[in-house]
Amino acid sequence: MTTPQRPLYFDYNATTPVDPRVLETMLPYFTEHFGNAESGAHAYGWKAKSAVENARKQVAALINADASEVVFTSGSTESVMLATLGFLEGQEPKRHLITTRAEHKCTLDVCAKAEKLGHEVTYIPVNRYGQVSAADIVAALRPNTALVTLMHANNEIGSLNPIAEIGALLRSRGIAFHVDAAQTIGKHPIDVKAMNIDLLSVSAHKYYGPKGIGALYVRRSAIHIAPLMKGGGQEKGLRGGTHNGPGIVGLGKASEIARLEMDEERTRLEKFRDKIIARFATLPGVELNGHPTERLCNNIHVSFRGLGADDLLLGTRDLAFSTASACSGGAMSHVLGAVGVTNPDPLFATARFSLGRFTTEAEVDTLIERITAVVQNAQGVSSSYASSGVAVPNTSEIC
Ligand SMILES: *Cc1c(COP(=O)(O)O)cnc(C)c1O
Repeated sequence: MTTPQRPLYFDYNATTPVDPRVLETMLPYFTEHFGNAESGAHAYGWKAKSAVENARKQVAALINADASEVVFTSGSTESVMLATLGFLEGQEPKRHLITTRAEHKCTLDVCAKAEKLGHEVTYIPVNRYGQVSAADIVAALRPNTALVTLMHANNEIGSLNPIAEIGALLRSRGIAFHVDAAQTIGKHPIDVKAMNIDLLSVSAHKYYGPKGIGALYVRRSAIHIAPLMKGGGQEKGLRGGTHNGPGIVGLGKASEIARLEMDEERTRLEKFRDKIIARFATLPGVELNGHPTERLCNNIHVSFRGLGADDLLLGTRDLAFSTASACSGGAMSHVLGAVGVTNPDPLFATARFSLGRFTTEAEVDTLIERITAVVQNAQGVSSSYASSGVAVPNTSEIC
C-alpha cells in the first residue's frame, strides 16, 4: 500500500475545510473592507457594519430566527458558556440545571463550573444509543429548574436527540431550553420556532466556514442573558470585542450555502453513510454505535471486537479519522462510557468516520476496502503490528 502525502479525509465531524465560495466572500474583508463595524463616522465602518448585519440575516434565515436574535461569538464552546452561565446569572433562586453525561466536553465543563458557582446539576442517563428521552427530562424537573441544556446530535456516535418533543414539553412548563447544534447546523433542518428552542449554539467550522467564529441564538422576547465578555458594547452589550469581520462574513456565507444545498447534500451523504454501515455490518466483530437511523447524515461510529487500535491505525495510514479507545488502557471516551460500551479485551478498537461536502464515492469505496482488509487480516493473524515496534499514532478523546 502506498501512502499518499495527504490521507483521505473522514473527519468532518471534527472540522471541515472552508468552502472555496466562503473563502472568496471573506477575502475582501481582510484587505479592502477591513473597517471596524463600530466606526460609525466613515465608509470603512459602514461597509463592515452592513456586512456583519447581512451575515446576521443569513444565519437567522438558516434557523428561522430573527436577525436581532443572533449574537456572534468565537464558536460553539463560547456560545455554550454564554448560554449557560449568562442565563443562570440572574436566575436565583432558580438554580437547577439538567443535562446528560453524553454532552460535548464544553457542556460538561461549563456544568462543572455552574456547580462550583452554587447551581445544582442533574445528569440524565442516556439510552444505549446515547439519546435522552423526553419522559426522563420531565421526571427530573424541579420547582427551581432554570435550564435544560442538550446537544442536538452527539459529536462522537452521531445519535440525534428528540429536540422538538422536548422543546414543546419545556416551553409549556416555562423552562428555558438550550441546544448545542454544533453538529447539526447546516446538515439537518433546525427551526428554533417550531422546535421551541430558547438558546442555540452553532459553530462555522463544522459547516464549511472558518474556525474561531460562531453564534448564539437568543429568543430575546423571553430570554435574558448576561454577557461573559464585557467592553465595547458590541452585540448589544452581550459580547464585547471588535467584530471578526471576515469570520462573520464567512459564517454568513456558509449559512446561506447550507440553507440552499442542505437537503440535497444530506441525501447524498446518507446514501454514502448507509452503504458504509451496510458493508461494515457484514464484517465479523464490527458493531455500529449510535442509533441505526436517527443519526447524523454523515457519521459512522463503530467498535471493532478482536482488533487492536494499533492494527486499525497502522492498516489505515492513508485515511484520516478519529479513534478513541473504550478500554481502560487507552483514553476513555466519556460518551462510550455513558452508553455502556466497555471492553476489558485489549483487542478492541473504536472509530468515527465522518463524511462531508467533498467526499466522493471513490473515497467511500477506499474506506470500505481498507477496513475490510484490516478486519480480515486481524481474523487470520492476531495483532500483527502489536509487537512490531512501529510508532502508533495517538488515540485520544474525540473532538
Ligand atoms: C465542535 C463542537 C463544539 C465546539 O465548537 P467550537 O466552535 O470548536 O468551540 C461543541 N459542541 C459540539 C457538539 C461540537 O461538535
